[in-house]
Formats: sequence, C-alpha cells, structure tokens
Amino acid sequence: MDTALQTPPAIAEQQFGSDNYAGICPEAWASMEEANRGFAPSYGDDPWTERASNAFRALFETDCDVFFVFNGTAANSLALASLCQSYHSVICADTSHVETDECGAPEFFSNGSKLLVAQSRDGKMTPASIHELATKRQDIHYPKPHVVTITQSTEMGTVYSLDEVRAISEASKAHGLLLHMDGARFANACAHLGATPAEMTWKSGVDVLCFGGTKNGLAVGEAVLFFDHKLAADFDYRCKQAGQLASKMRFLAAPWIGMLESGAWLRNAAHANRCATYFAEQIAEIPGIRTIAPVDANAVFLMTSETVLDRLRARGWRFYTFIGGAARFMFAWDSDLRRIDELVRDLRACAA
Ligand SMILES: *Cc1c(COP(=O)(O)O)cnc(C)c1O
Repeated sequence: MDTALQTPPAIAEQQFGSDNYAGICPEAWASMEEANRGFAPSYGDDPWTERASNAFRALFETDCDVFFVFNGTAANSLALASLCQSYHSVICADTSHVETDECGAPEFFSNGSKLLVAQSRDGKMTPASIHELATKRQDIHYPKPHVVTITQSTEMGTVYSLDEVRAISEASKAHGLLLHMDGARFANACAHLGATPAEMTWKSGVDVLCFGGTKNGLAVGEAVLFFDHKLAADFDYRCKQAGQLASKMRFLAAPWIGMLESGAWLRNAAHANRCATYFAEQIAEIPGIRTIAPVDANAVFLMTSETVLDRLRARGWRFYTFIGGAARFMFAWDSDLRRIDELVRDLRACAA
C-alpha cells in the first residue's frame, strides 16, 4: 500500500479553540459532491454559481449582487476598498477583525484608506462613537470618513439588536457614511435574534454584507452581498485583481446551495449558539472563573487566573487569550455536548 495515501492521524478529541476547527457540514459536502459530477464552465459562468446567488437573493428577499471569495479578510477588505477612495477613512471598533486581524489588508486593498478606531464595549460601537469620529475633523488634512463597519455577531460573541443596528445606520446616514457589516458569524446573529437576514441588513440600512461560510460549516468561502447595484460596480474586477476570482467557482458557490436551501446555515448557527449558552451555564458556578461579555452567539470568554489557564493547557485544551487575557472558547455546528462536559469537568478541577 502507498503509505502516502494512508489516513493521517486526526486530532483525537474535539477542541473549542475556534469555530474554524470544525469540518465541513453534511449539507455543504453533499452539494460539493453533486457539483463534482462532470464539468462546468469556469469563472462563475456555471449553473451552481447562479443557483447559489439566487439562493442568497431568495433568503435576503431582494435582488442583491452576490460574489464569492475565499476568506473573510478578502471579503472585508475588498468590500471596504470598493466603497472607498484612497483618501477616505473607515470607522470601526477597536476590537474589530478589520483592525486587529487582517494584517492591514483593508488599507492595502484600498490603497491607503485609514481605519478610524472607535472604543467599543463588548465588541459594539455606539451611534455616539460614530458621531464623534465622523465630526472630529473636517479639514483637508484628515482622511475623510466614508464608511462605518460593524461586526455581527461581534468579535466578543455579542449581537447587536435590530434597534442597535438601525441606530448605527441612522448615525451613519446622518453623516453621509455607508454601512458595511462583517458577518463572519452573521448566521449566529440571525439565530440569536430570530431576525430574518433582510431585517438584519438592508431593511436596517446595511449597504454591504460579508456573509461568512467558513465558520458556519463550509470548507472555505464567504459571500459578499451588495444591496445597492451601484456599489457593486466593477467588484468582479477587484476580486480578479486581488486573486479572489476562483476559476473553478462552482466549488466555492455550490456548498452554499446545500447550506441555504436546506436551512443548515441557521441550524448550524443555532446549535453553536446553544452549545455556548450551555457551556456558560455549566461554568457559572465555578469559583474564580467568570465570563467577561454576554453570551449571545457562539463564543464564551472566560476570565480566570494564569494558573488555572496553565493547568487547563496542561490537560491538553487549546484556546486563545488574545483579547484582554480572557480565554476564548468557540462552538460550531459540530460541537459535541459530551466533549463540552469534559471541558467543564476539567475547568472545575483546574479551578479547585
Ligand atoms: C474569522 C473572521 C473573519 C474572517 O477571517 P479569515 O481568516 O480571513 O477568513 C472576519 N471577521 C471576523 C469577525 C472573524 O471572526
């Protein structure tokens, strides 16, 4: 037997370090398998891409422009670049992925549009913070504010209510700013609020949405949705120039068909959210451990001592502590409640 083809060792036990540790969900996999039967035209000129785009239009109840890219950094930074001239600026939260986790890609792809960072609480910006940054300077020497970006659900696992999204959109429009939504975990926000994708976006004043697939059960891929055709002008060229136009586009598009048409996008997110809530409830009574933000979506941030974290690592658990020293646990479509129980058991032992 060719040893190169032997199954590599899987990581034996499930970890909750990130929601992108999960595999591909069955619905996405089935669509990929179907799309793999035979050949199809390239660069998006195929029936899978058309069907996936139409599934988004049906889900969002509007004739939006839909583009498929490889990851969230590309989706966000290309979307922001397309809304901005190089002398514009983008108002974002200090905790936002575009500010902290994209290696300057929004600035790079926009040829210099500056991110203006607002203080946030639990990952959220307020209309007041937008007003403050939008009016701070209005002279020729300062990059002109042009876009506001919010993350839904936020990097802290919280979710903006519809009223909060609308208030932000009103503040943005009052200053002539466009509104972009980083929806790497958009589905988790919809599941938490019970709001429709339309209510969450264009009906509340969002102009462009990056809808995350990777953390929702795809292998790879995010969709960029423009709710105003004018804003989508030439976005296809921008994607191509940035190396984001897949020649075998059907394999970026097809998995969305299974996700959207079956409702898996929402079921997956609801499961992940339930797991986070369950975990937060289980650890609530453990002395010396507390959550640092409301658990709305699929993330739980735990504040505890370094000793407890070291003990937990020694028991083989993986987690990040890049936000304020808190340990982040994230749940996905495939999170196993029994494995969460093991984590709770170990946390209790480590804290004792
Ligand atoms: C994961 C994530 C992204 C996308 O990250 P990539 O690694 O580029 O796919 C974007 N925004 C937020 C808030 C995220 O958590």
